[in-house]
Amino acid sequence: MSSIKVMDEVLANTIAAGEVVERTLNVVKELVENSIDAKSTSIKIKLTDAGVKEIIVEDNGIGMDREDARLAFLRHATSKLKKVDDLFHIATLGFRGEALPSIASVAIVDLTTSQNQVGTHVVVEAGTIKTIESCDLQQGTTIKVRDLFYNTPVRLKYLKNLYTELALIVEYVNKMALSYPSIKFVLINNDKELLNTAGDGNLLKVIYAVYGIDVAKKMLAINGENEDYVVSGYISYPEVAKTARSVMTTLVNGRVIRNLELNRTILEAYHTYIPKDKYPIVVLNIDVDPILIDINIHPQKMDIKFSKAETLKSLVTDLITKKLKEVLLIPHANVRDIATIAEVQAQMPLAPPKSPFEIEDVVAEVKPEIEEVTFDLETEMPPSEEIPTEYRIKEMYPVGIVHKTYIIAENDDGMFIIDQHAAAERINYEKYLKALSAEQKDITNLLVPIRLEFSKDAFIRLKQHLDVLTSIGIQAEEFGDNTLIIRSHPTWLFQGYEKESIEKIIAIILEHGEFVKEKFVEKTAITLACRLSIKANDYISKEEMKYLLDNLRKCENPFTCPHGRPTIITYSNYDLERLFKRAMN
Ligand code: ZN
Ligand code: ZN
Repeated sequence: MSSIKVMDEVLANTIAAGEVVERTLNVVKELVENSIDAKSTSIKIKLTDAGVKEIIVEDNGIGMDREDARLAFLRHATSKLKKVDDLFHIATLGFRGEALPSIASVAIVDLTTSQNQVGTHVVVEAGTIKTIESCDLQQGTTIKVRDLFYNTPVRLKYLKNLYTELALIVEYVNKMALSYPSIKFVLINNDKELLNTAGDGNLLKVIYAVYGIDVAKKMLAINGENEDYVVSGYISYPEVAKTARSVMTTLVNGRVIRNLELNRTILEAYHTYIPKDKYPIVVLNIDVDPILIDINIHPQKMDIKFSKAETLKSLVTDLITKKLKEVLLIPHANVRDIATIAEVQAQMPLAPPKSPFEIEDVVAEVKPEIEEVTFDLETEMPPSEEIPTEYRIKEMYPVGIVHKTYIIAENDDGMFIIDQHAAAERINYEKYLKALSAEQKDITNLLVPIRLEFSKDAFIRLKQHLDVLTSIGIQAEEFGDNTLIIRSHPTWLFQGYEKESIEKIIAIILEHGEFVKEKFVEKTAITLACRLSIKANDYISKEEMKYLLDNLRKCENPFTCPHGRPTIITYSNYDLERLFKRAMN
């Protein structure tokens, strides 16, 4: 008996927008999602030339009977959707039942499927069924889509953009693998394996398959809940942050979603831990009663709105900031960096590879090396290095300095290299941030006031914000034409650089336009810290080094400067022993 019903009109119209098969990615998506719907535990995707030549998707799902196999190529026929209530499902997993007929109209489709009895083999060309016959097959479905767009001019366009097509497919399959750790995903292009997951339900193992061992070793499990939301997953150490935003994966009830605010919240939690143009590797699943979400469906992506978004944001922020505070975040000097596909693509020259063959080499380079893996993901992750009780870093003793920039220091754990500017910048940043946000201001009254002159327009704009200066302890008065007199300033201003500091602060006020106090405070703290901290090439004595190291330890986040660059890197004793072959393995 057929489980496929011709779809209700309402639903047909709702999803009509999804009819377009624009890219090879759309085809892969449709087929993979059909496989997931068919309860497959193993999905193998084999591409030739990024899918333009051929896409084969092979699964071990429940399969179809002869009638379903035939109906699958009819427009608006679907077994999966009967009510509009299922829209969350469609929204996340493509537009069920619509795409297969569309695909069949622009390609040669060869389908074999079996429910573990007699299998069915169907061939469709340009939308018409050419063959339908019985065949032998174990339970599951294999669909071959050949010569996509062969009967349309679009085909040529894709031949030029194979790399882009492949990168999109890789990104998509990666995300599906991260969403479904219990399904085994294999992705192959031109005989090169690009992904192979275990499908045993272990998310960390999927992360390993997608991003490589160095990243998997630097992931931290988080989980927590409040009244409405349960959040679980993995976040990366800041040091393995990537340049592609796509390394942030957020799921709602197990489905990949895109929510700008949620992404912003995650990035905010990593604030100053990573540089502005980098993204932490994150896989977060949010479990929530569907009543609390509002899904905006669009054929290409899915946007989601949360009610009680604030409680979700604070839960995510708490979980990440707490976790980052629990671990020692000093990168080891010998950490290798493995690029993601998207990252490599971002670094590539704009012109796509000339021939479809070049694509293989690029992708091969991108594939993480997994041959010499000693790390066993079966067993638990190595315990994160413990944090010293009082401060986040143990006491370090300076040994010397390299290129008047990098302090070499040591303690029982190993050797440390500290960037003197980055370290000083972090210390001053935290100091200024505290001082700027404090209620009580310690103020120095000036015997000789500071005079500052401005251009006419700057002065007019500045006059509207004199209260900002007052709020941080700078007493300023108008003094004749375009001139300001400073009578007092906060005591924390760097001695000997008071005037320069005040000028800098005023420059920030003038740059800002729309005024948000926290942003101003943050910007001011960073700018002053960068300007007034010792620079690379500034000579410092050993005592000053020690002073710097001691103060760095006491920072809330001693590991990165306010711009997110590392302040400190270590060679542990073990790293050193390995480097000099005193210890093997
Ligand atoms: Zn700086
Ligand atoms: Zn910096």
